[in-house]
Amino acid sequence: MPHSPPPFSNTPYVGRFAPSPTGALHFGSLVAAVGSFLDARAHQGRWLLRIEDVDAPRTVPGAAEGIIATLERFGFEWDGEIVWQSARTATYAAALETLKAAGHAYPCTCTRRELADQPLARDGSRRYPGTCRDGLPPGREGRAWRVRAEGVIRFDDAVQGTQQIDLAADAGDYVIRRADGLFAYQLAVVVDDAEAGVTHVVRGADLLDSTARQIHLLGLLGQTVPAYAHLPLATNAAGEKLSKQTLARAIDEHPPATALLAALRFLGQNPPAALAAAPLAEIWQWARAHWSIAAVPRRRQAEAPGFH
Ligand code: GLU
Ligand code: ZN
Repeated sequence: MPHSPPPFSNTPYVGRFAPSPTGALHFGSLVAAVGSFLDARAHQGRWLLRIEDVDAPRTVPGAAEGIIATLERFGFEWDGEIVWQSARTATYAAALETLKAAGHAYPCTCTRRELADQPLARDGSRRYPGTCRDGLPPGREGRAWRVRAEGVIRFDDAVQGTQQIDLAADAGDYVIRRADGLFAYQLAVVVDDAEAGVTHVVRGADLLDSTARQIHLLGLLGQTVPAYAHLPLATNAAGEKLSKQTLARAIDEHPPATALLAALRFLGQNPPAALAAAPLAEIWQWARAHWSIAAVPRRRQAEAPGFH
């Protein structure tokens, strides 16, 4: 159930959980929800819920409602109204106009096929060779919008340590509006976090490689950069990120107390054995009182036995 912030609270911490409604919550998404929620509450902070349905073709009808129901069943409490990215197109469009007006964004005509020979960036996308940077080739029309990306981004991740990424050498100029007209995740997440005043981003380490671009984009938009903590990613025995593709089981197939205890252990917290038979509320109480981000394993991924 949503609950209101305590009166006179002036603590600056604002955290969030931002699931993509591409399917049911699985153990990996539960870990991100638990970590971001506990870190916010340990700081007397706010914890926001945002449904990242900006990628309409990947959105599964009913998945968002299912995720919300699961979060409620687990006893999560978020602050304020849920934000839906699908309702925020005008805000993303305004950010794109700002970037265009400042000369940071340019149209790109390149197709996936034309970029197929480029080296892979750390996140698996193709590095952009800069073909349309100084203008579209004659006779071609712009399809996507990209941002000029230069410089080295450094940040201290609370779990993964110091990160340093050379934007040009990694992904190059990246897409902020896709050829299909949809706004890219990188733009939406940055605009939404900035507008909500998010101060701390706690999420899965699969997004560590996007973070440099997001910090870069925040800078171009004149926004403050939040603190980051990237939690180990839950994998199956083959080391693959749990997802619909790996047929990860919905977390709803497990009793919430069991799943919550497993998520706490996955995050390096050390719930006492006596909690194994405790009701959900008691486990939450323990977790809120004992949360330690310093105890989270400094790994990018780990297997989640029993929760594939
Ligand atoms: N929507 C993204 C996901 O579910 C998370 C985005 C974020 O936390 O920044 O993978
Ligand atoms: Zn291009």
